[in-house]
Amino acid sequence: MRITIQTKLFLSHFAAIILVSGSAGTYFYTSAAENLKTALQSRLMNSAALISQCLDTENLDQIRSESDMNNPAFKKNLAALREFVKSNPDFAFIYIMRRKENKAFFVIDSDLQDPALPGEEYEHDVPALMEGFLRPSVDESITEDKWGFFLSGYSPLEGGEDDYLVGIDMRADEVQAKFERIRLAGMLSFALSVILAMIFSRLLSMNFTKRITDLTTRFALIAPIEDDLGDVAQGDELDQLSLSFDHMSKRLQIKRQQIDENQVSLRSAHSEMEQRVESRTSELLQSNQKLMQEIAERKNVERMLEQTSRTDYLTGILNRRAISIRLDQVMAQTARGSKSFCTILLDIDHFKQVNDQYGHDVGDQVLKHCVEKLQSCIRESDELGRWGGEEFLVLTPETELAEAKKLAQRLCVELAATSFVHQQNEISVTASLGVTRYLNGENLGACLRRTDDALYAAKARGRNCVVVTDPE
Ligand code: GH3
Ligand code: MG
Ligand code: MG
Repeated sequence: MRITIQTKLFLSHFAAIILVSGSAGTYFYTSAAENLKTALQSRLMNSAALISQCLDTENLDQIRSESDMNNPAFKKNLAALREFVKSNPDFAFIYIMRRKENKAFFVIDSDLQDPALPGEEYEHDVPALMEGFLRPSVDESITEDKWGFFLSGYSPLEGGEDDYLVGIDMRADEVQAKFERIRLAGMLSFALSVILAMIFSRLLSMNFTKRITDLTTRFALIAPIEDDLGDVAQGDELDQLSLSFDHMSKRLQIKRQQIDENQVSLRSAHSEMEQRVESRTSELLQSNQKLMQEIAERKNVERMLEQTSRTDYLTGILNRRAISIRLDQVMAQTARGSKSFCTILLDIDHFKQVNDQYGHDVGDQVLKHCVEKLQSCIRESDELGRWGGEEFLVLTPETELAEAKKLAQRLCVELAATSFVHQQNEISVTASLGVTRYLNGENLGACLRRTDDALYAAKARGRNCVVVTDPE
C-alpha cells in the first residue's frame, strides 16, 4: 500500500503533538491533584495532632460500653469533640478509638445523629487508622460512602493502658469536585490539543508536500518526464521528486554533451573559416601585389611608349611631332603675353656624300655625333628636335632675334670645328642655318616657312653659314 509523504508527515506530527500535550496534561493534572491532596492530608494530620494535645484523656479506660456514656470523662470529651467539629465546617466527625488485639473500637463519637457507641468495633480494614495508634497518619486517598466523600486523619492519644487515637473525618466533596473540574479541564484541553494538532499537522504536511510537488513540477518544466529515459513515476512525493531530479540531471547531462559537441564542431568550423580567410587574404594580397606590379609595368611601358612617341629613335632628341607640340605650347604662351620666341632650322651640308663615302651606318653615327655637339651648345631653356633626315630645329623661348642669331652662329662654328673619327678617318661636316623670330599673332606655318626660306638662302649663299630673316 502506498502511503504518501503527506500522510506520513501528518501522522508523525500529529502523534508527536498528542504525545507531548498528553504527557504534559497528565503531568500537570497529576501534580495539581497530588499537591491539593498533600496539602489537605498535612492539614488534616496537623489538626488531628493539635486536637490530640487539647483533650483531657485521663479516664478513657473507664469507657468501655454503652453503659459508660454517663461517665463524666465520656461527657467531657464528647463535648470537647463536638466543639472541635463546630470550630471547622469541613470537619464531619471527630472520634476517639481504642486498639485491642489489633482491632479498633469506638470510645467516643462526636456524631449527633447516629453515633457509634462505646466499645463498637470499627469493621473496615484501614491501614492508616491502625498506624494512627502509633504516630500521626492520614488516609492514602479520599473514600466514598453513603454520607459522601471523606478523608480521615489520625493522631495517637495518651489516655490509659491501651492504645488510643483521635480521628477526624473531613468532608472532601468540594475537593473531589475540584479534582473532577481539573480532570474535566484536562480532558477538554486534551481534546482541544487533538483538534489543534490535527489542524496544524494537516497544514504542515500540506505545506511541506506542496513545496515538494512544486519542486517536482518545476523540475518537470525543465525536463518533462518522458518514457525515452526509462523512468516511471511511482512511490511517494519524495520518490517523485527524486525521480524528477534524476530525470532533470540526465537531461542536463545530455544537453551538456550536445553543447560540448556543438562547441567542438563550432571551434573546428571557426578554425577552418580562419584558415580559409587567411589563405584568401594571402591570395588577395598576392593578386594585389601582382596587380600593382602590372600597373607599375604598364605605367612604365606607357612612359616608355610616350617617351618613344616623343623621341627620335636614332638620336634620342624630340622628334618632329614632339617639337611641333612644343612650338604650339610656346606660341600659346606668347599669345598669353610672354616674350616671343625664335626658330633656327639647321641642315647638314652635302650629307649625301657622307653616306655615299662611308655607308649609311656611319652616316647614322655622324648624325648622332652632330646632335651631341648641338645639344652641348644650346641653353637649358632651348629645345632641339629632329625636323627631317639630317635637318634639325632649335626652339629658343622668350628670346630676341639677335640672341638667336648668336646661338645659330655658335652652332655653325662648333659643328664645323668638330669631327667624327671612323677607322682613322676624321669625318667633318658643316651645316647651313636659317633663323627667324615669331611674330605675335601670326600663323606658325608662316614662321616656319620663313625659317625654311632663310635656310634655303644660307644654302644658296654657299653653305656653312647663317641667314637671319627679321619678320619686321
Ligand atoms: P645639301 O643639303 O647640301 O644640298 O646636300 P645633301 O647631300 O645634304 O642633300 P639632300 O638633302 O638632298 O640629301 C640628304 C641626304 O641625307 C639623303 C639621305 O640619304 C641622307 N640621309 C637622310 N636621312 C639620313 C639618315 O637618317 N641616315 C643617313 N645615313 N643618311 C640620311
Ligand atoms: Mg643636307
Ligand atoms: Mg636635307
